[in-house]
Amino acid sequence: MGLVVQKYGGSSVADAEGIKRVAKRIVEAKKNGNDVVVVVSAMGDTTDELIDLAEQVSPMPAGRELDMLLTAGERISMALLAMAIKNLGHKAQSFTGSQAGVITDSVHNKARIIDVTPGRIRTALDEGNIAIVAGFQGVSQDKKDITTLGRGGSDTTAVALAAALDAEVCEIYTDVDGVFTADPRVVKKARKIDWISFEDMLELAASGSKVLLHRCVEYARRYNIPIHVRSSFSPLQGTWVSSEPIEQGDKKVEQAIISGVAHDTSEAKITVVGVPDKPGEAAAIFRTIADAEINIDMVVQNVSAAATGLTDISFTLPKSEGRKAIDALEKNRPRIGFESLRYDDQIGKISLVGAGMKTNPGVTADFFTALSDAGVNIELISTSEIRISVVTRKDDVPEAVRAVHTAFGLDSDSDEAVVYGGTGR
Ligand code: ADP
Ligand code: ASP
Ligand code: MG
Repeated sequence: MGLVVQKYGGSSVADAEGIKRVAKRIVEAKKNGNDVVVVVSAMGDTTDELIDLAEQVSPMPAGRELDMLLTAGERISMALLAMAIKNLGHKAQSFTGSQAGVITDSVHNKARIIDVTPGRIRTALDEGNIAIVAGFQGVSQDKKDITTLGRGGSDTTAVALAAALDAEVCEIYTDVDGVFTADPRVVKKARKIDWISFEDMLELAASGSKVLLHRCVEYARRYNIPIHVRSSFSPLQGTWVSSEPIEQGDKKVEQAIISGVAHDTSEAKITVVGVPDKPGEAAAIFRTIADAEINIDMVVQNVSAAATGLTDISFTLPKSEGRKAIDALEKNRPRIGFESLRYDDQIGKISLVGAGMKTNPGVTADFFTALSDAGVNIELISTSEIRISVVTRKDDVPEAVRAVHTAFGLDSDSDEAVVYGGTGR
């Protein structure tokens, strides 16, 4: 008998009907002879609604209290799902992240899992239960406070449990048929990918393809857990994310030259204007940001104007951290010695990802040509071995993604990609 971990995202359990539909699917997996552990997200847009509510009572809600509030979302769905399964005549028990043994560090709102001790889950399974675990949450090792793993963190819970329980596969059920060559909400002609390597998926996820959270892919790669991303609304095979290509017929699926186009409109750009052009300035700026526990993405330093001896430094970061970053920099302005700060939250990032980039010259040139043909202006550029990213105006993003997708021959010539649910929020 195998053990499978299944994760159902918010759009799959958006209402009572959704919960009943998912319950049936879980029972099928159990009837097929598997031990089944289910990780569930909060219903629909519950997490966003709870954040809106928190911001109505406090512009910068305390991290600890926000975690207490947000974890309530997953408690609702886990209990309802367990009830629905029992109603179908099967044994089920729900567990909070803490009860399931998800131990984290104590960084509220974006905690990292440091250990998983799923003793209670094992016992529940041994007693014939389907175990339902609240995603996105854990308990901090030192303070024993409730923590959350960052937006989309249920994906990470699922893979972490799959690793700790030595599962055969981690199935991620969502509102599209798998991982596509671009977000199907933006590119109707996006193509479903049958297999993608951990490396390419990691870059797509880190570049904004929220179908999988990048920390979850990191975890899966470290423990070599195959992920199967698929729709909870259809019986179709989805996308396999694993180290080795899957077999189709008697052939292995080939690694694509370009895996896909990702976009991200959740970041903002801060420009530190008038920084003295001398050693130690960049270090002082980014130490200030790091001390505030903020992760940055791209960095660009402009050429120094010889006459003034001053330069500008721009960087991008999650919009949700914008205010904290500005406050931290302002507080340290006398010490760092810059002139002013500019904040721009109307930016977007477009990334092209593919291992084939390493060996195919001209990919960068074709990427920039596609953007220029679409009339899109580029503000920042960054690259890795298997990715090129640019920052543009936010309003240009959908058009730019479609233009790049077409230019690299990724458009599907068969059916349009189906989006079964969700609001895309
Ligand atoms: P869930 O609630 O199941 O966690 P998410 O909203 O987090 O679902 O992720 C699924 C969504 O990810 C899809 O509806 C789609 O709009 C978006 N998405 C972005 N990039 C991609 C991609 N390359 N392939 C598939 N979906 C993508
Ligand atoms: N409910 C959380 C969120 O919306 C976690 C998740 O869905 O993965 O971010
Ligand atoms: Mg998600």
